[in-house]
Amino acid sequence: MKKNLIIFGFVMLSGLMFSSCGNNSSKEKQTTTKEVAKVQYTCPMHPEVVSDKPGDCPKCGMALVEKK
Ligand SMILES: [Zn+2]
Repeated sequence: MKKNLIIFGFVMLSGLMFSSCGNNSSKEKQTTTKEVAKVQYTCPMHPEVVSDKPGDCPKCGMALVEKK
């Protein structure tokens, strides 16, 4: 009787762990795959000039271009 109870408990526990793990991994995959790509703007003449929004280069006044 005791052995049966232990086996039953073990099966229940492993089943619970399995189902919770499966749910977690599927949710994590959905959130990690959709990350917002950061767009940066840089001066064609001055690569050290990097801005997170379009504008003019502070060194030469050229329009910043999208960095890829
Ligand atoms: Zn520049």
